Amino acid sequence: MRSTSKFHNNSSRRPVVLLDVDGVINDLKCLWGAPADDHVVVRSNGYKVYVPRYMPALVQWLCSVADVHWCTTWRDRANLEIARHLGIDPLPVVDDGTNDRHVDWKAAAAYSLAESALAAGRRVVWIEDFGDRLPVHEMPRGVEYVDTASGSDPLQVLTAEMIPDWMFGLSSGEAA
Ligand SMILES: [Mg+2]
Repeated sequence: MRSTSKFHNNSSRRPVVLLDVDGVINDLKCLWGAPADDHVVVRSNGYKVYVPRYMPALVQWLCSVADVHWCTTWRDRANLEIARHLGIDPLPVVDDGTNDRHVDWKAAAAYSLAESALAAGRRVVWIEDFGDRLPVHEMPRGVEYVDTASGSDPLQVLTAEMIPDWMFGLSSGEAA
């Protein structure tokens, strides 16, 4: 039987997850009039965030198996205004120090975090509504992507089915 020690070494280290809000946790379909019956509506700063009712459990599970960082234009407001609705503690925030409302700052701001995690043998998963435009040329090789806006329906949110299979083999609290 072939050795799987490399796999085990890697899987014994907590992965790093970069987690977006809009189009990942916030169901943008509801902004366009889709029913929000199965959502909790979080009102923040003039905005509404539509969080599917299953989402807190999914994000709590992610936080139990990975070191999750916000990577969102909400920046620290994700901690201040959204985290409690997900039942999670504040998370580290990827931030470029500007208030840029676009998303093209994210890769440069997350690059060194991803690079050092990969160098330490940890897996890195970036969850975002990329819309089939993965930033593979802007990030270190080895970063894995979960695109919640892939394919014909760009207005999706994160579901358990989108999570890479290997993450379900992780146990909670595994030391890095
Ligand atoms: Mg987004």
